[in-house]
Amino acid sequence: MDADCPFCRIVAGEVPAQILRQTEHVVAFRDINPQAPTHILLVPKEHLRSLEEIGEGHESLLVEMIQAAVQLARADGVDRTGWRLVANTGADAGQSVHHLHFHLLGGRRMAWPPG
Ligand code: 5GP
Ligand code: ZN
Repeated sequence: MDADCPFCRIVAGEVPAQILRQTEHVVAFRDINPQAPTHILLVPKEHLRSLEEIGEGHESLLVEMIQAAVQLARADGVDRTGWRLVANTGADAGQSVHHLHFHLLGGRRMAWPPG
């Protein structure tokens, strides 16, 4: 755990969040500043700074995160209309919190390419 990391503090229960699901290695909660009707963040309990830190041994974590995203999309009803899973990685992508997270976005029509 990184005491200065906002998502580690949510995982530790030190900062409140609207937590939707916890699995062995993953926590999912609603984004504080939603960009779509469904905007959920999925984070590993382990502090990894970004996808760049994924390596051997993280295979089951990634499957767990994606399976949780599929289940949460169904739970929010966006599986019928479509949804997007995004991991902003680094400065050009606009990553602002340096604890790996996937954004699950849905509930409105989204543009491509993203801005
Ligand atoms: P990034 O820009 O790093 O891809 O995304 C970070 C996301 O985390 C943003 O969408 C931002 O609104 C969200 N966020 C930042 N701090 C908090 C927080 O303390 N609680 C919650 N629920 N979301 C947060
Ligand atoms: Zn962290």
